Amino acid sequence: MIFDFIVVGAGSAGCIVASRLSESGRHSVLLIEAGGEDKSFWFKIPVGYAKSYYNPRVNWMYRTEPEANLGGRRIYAPRGKVQGGSGSINAMVFVRGAAEDFEDWRAAGNPGWGFDEVLPFFRKLETHARGESPWHGDNGPIHVTPMRGATHPVSDAFLDACDELGIPLNEDFNGATIAGAGVYDVNTRRGQRSHSSAEYLRPALKRPNLSIERQAHARRLLIEQDGRVSGVEVIQRGEVRKFTARREVVLAAGAVDTPKLMQLSGLGDGCQLFVHGIETRKHLPAVGKNLQDHLCTSFYYRSKQPTLNGEFASLIGQARFGLTWLLKRSGPFAMSVNQAGGFFRGSPEETRPNIQVYFNPLSYRIPDSPKASLTPEPYPGFLIAFNACRPTSKGTISIASPEASDAPLIRPNYLSTDRDIQEVLQGSRLMRRIADARALDGWVEEEVSPSKAADTDDKLLDYFRLNSGSIYHLCGTCAMGSDPRESVVDARLRVHGVPGLRVVDASVFPNITAGNINAPTMMVAEKGAAMILEDTTSV
Ligand SMILES: Cc1cc2nc3c(=O)[nH]c(=O)nc-3n(C[C@H](O)[C@H](O)[C@H](O)COP(=O)(O)OP(=O)(O)OC[C@H]3O[C@@H](n4cnc5c(N)ncnc54)[C@H](O)[C@@H]3O)c2cc1C
Repeated sequence: MIFDFIVVGAGSAGCIVASRLSESGRHSVLLIEAGGEDKSFWFKIPVGYAKSYYNPRVNWMYRTEPEANLGGRRIYAPRGKVQGGSGSINAMVFVRGAAEDFEDWRAAGNPGWGFDEVLPFFRKLETHARGESPWHGDNGPIHVTPMRGATHPVSDAFLDACDELGIPLNEDFNGATIAGAGVYDVNTRRGQRSHSSAEYLRPALKRPNLSIERQAHARRLLIEQDGRVSGVEVIQRGEVRKFTARREVVLAAGAVDTPKLMQLSGLGDGCQLFVHGIETRKHLPAVGKNLQDHLCTSFYYRSKQPTLNGEFASLIGQARFGLTWLLKRSGPFAMSVNQAGGFFRGSPEETRPNIQVYFNPLSYRIPDSPKASLTPEPYPGFLIAFNACRPTSKGTISIASPEASDAPLIRPNYLSTDRDIQEVLQGSRLMRRIADARALDGWVEEEVSPSKAADTDDKLLDYFRLNSGSIYHLCGTCAMGSDPRESVVDARLRVHGVPGLRVVDASVFPNITAGNINAPTMMVAEKGAAMILEDTTSV
């Protein structure tokens, strides 16, 4: 079957790209997705996040290789395997990133990606509850809702604690600056997940020129003798199928699977491909390199006053929250548990915020085994978590074998720089300063973990090494840049030296952004789709 464009991966980015490319009706578009449809009620209700966390039907459930600096642990790396991708299973915290992040993108050899140039695409993709402003759009598909005004009293006490420490309060992390403490925005519309599958793809699928193949796993790209990519080979319900693209194939399979698919197709480091018996079609040494992520840990507190633990743990409490959601589309089931937080300077010497904080009015352990469920601790509690905004450790994604069905080797190489270790210590001390503030006196009964016994840098670092985990912001594995030795795509997201192929997803980030990365991934998709259409009409 022949289409103008084929988009591989119906995730946060792919749904947007397929929708925009098909909008004019002039181009035929096929979207290929390895997972099924995101029809279940649990994708709609924000609290449904916990249901997909360990569900292999909708989640690739990857693990890293043993991480040397984290006690040899294999870190859990969930990824959405369903229409909507990771955007269907994520926690919906909506943060664009710092303006400086995009200045760095531009400075890395990418004209057109500075903050003033990406802001119009952030505005285009959103309808913000605050209405239109220089910072916000009011006419885009994704609905963004501030949680301000709906937070738990302990979250408000956290903000008072920050104020007491002289940390400025920030009304809007997606406004003039991310710096300071505040309440997060979430991508919800009337208490339901507002993501690219629901808001872009579902309406677009009514168009006759857009088709989707679900349960279709792309296993390699079809490449002509002259090196041009002409289509995709997929496995669908045990059958091999080939689809042809007249114009372009767009890879949007995410930061793990996009480099994997390129390597399986002979696009990657020639030596690495040789080891697996794969013929090199284009030596692109940067494919799968530059992997970045945010590594996070939580400090746990027993509370003197009730938090959400009791209600989340009891059937009556759950029924009450469920009813509030059903009748009013509000309450804790309509929100992220990451209610408050912000972007802080870990020491006075830091020139910009380098530590991101999450405050949860609930304490729960995330079990490392799919057999256990995410349950609140059996007493009132809350947690404060942190990660470095711009960690400097870099890792790799590489195929484990020439078989598409084998998971790739994920090696983030966490905590491999002195800078990242210093930031762990800065973040740990910051947690303590906040919890010790007078404003939290009425709440903090005890620091349960790491506990006050962790009273030296070495002990705090050990706690982090043994308890930290990904917060699922893998990116950068097909980075954008001008040098084909160090990057994979150019500033128009075309793969260097491979006609007919682009990458438009979180893989193209030259550097991770300060904050959660779904919003910048969707921005990349809006801008990427606009560039593809510009280049198509100018042919
Ligand atoms: C549990 C979790 C919580 C998160 N919380 C937040 C948050 O609160 N805020 C935030 O900003 N970010 C969050 N993130 C991160 C964010 O959701 C992702 O970074 C973002 O969705 C990545 O978008 P993407 O389009 O690059 O990839 P994805 O959305 O992962 O999409 C890739 C798609 O490609 C499909 N695919 C992969 N391989 C193939 C193949 N070979 N053939 C066909 N299809 C294929 C996948 O099934 C998937 O649908 C979270 C992520 C997770 C997993």
